[in-house]
Amino acid sequence: MKKDVALATIHKKWLKKCTCELRNTATRGVPGYGNPDASIVFIGEAPGKKEDETGVPFVGAAGKFLDEMLASIKMKREEVYITNVVKYRPPENRDPTQKEKEDCRKWLHEELNCISPKLIIFLGRHSMNDFFPKLKISDAHGKLVHEKLPGINTEYFLPLYHPASALYNGSLRATLLADFKKIPSMLRKINGR
Ligand code: URA
Repeated sequence: MKKDVALATIHKKWLKKCTCELRNTATRGVPGYGNPDASIVFIGEAPGKKEDETGVPFVGAAGKFLDEMLASIKMKREEVYITNVVKYRPPENRDPTQKEKEDCRKWLHEELNCISPKLIIFLGRHSMNDFFPKLKISDAHGKLVHEKLPGINTEYFLPLYHPASALYNGSLRATLLADFKKIPSMLRKINGR
């Protein structure tokens, strides 16, 4: 099966059978979106208001900033794949609970393994801690992690600050931009070039 068809099948299945209780309050599920052959997958936390309205991840203010950062390394959104740990908007954009993360986890892992990107980039501590519970974002940001995790095909991970947290904080913003600039050389390293 071609990857785009396989991904669409995964999303169709989980939109029907995901047990996350946020389904009861959200307008719709927000599956991952982007290039099925992407070398990079970005994982955020959970959809916000705009994402809940449109069904597409990272289309609000944080998403615009993400697009700007991609442009700074000469990449476009169409080249990458963007998704979230939790696929439904939490009320008032509160942090997702452990149970909500667990209930969306099989969906996330299936889409990741379908794409099998070279590099998974965590946007913020929520997505990082879903894979590496012990890491602290203040230490781990901008540092490439090489690890074989059970059930995950990809072996390289990069934690970054969440674009929403950096939007109105000048020093976090500068740190995030500087970390983002490391992505092309990290990809070359992963590819052995
Ligand atoms: N923040 C996230 O973590 N995900 C989105 O899709 C939008 C904002």
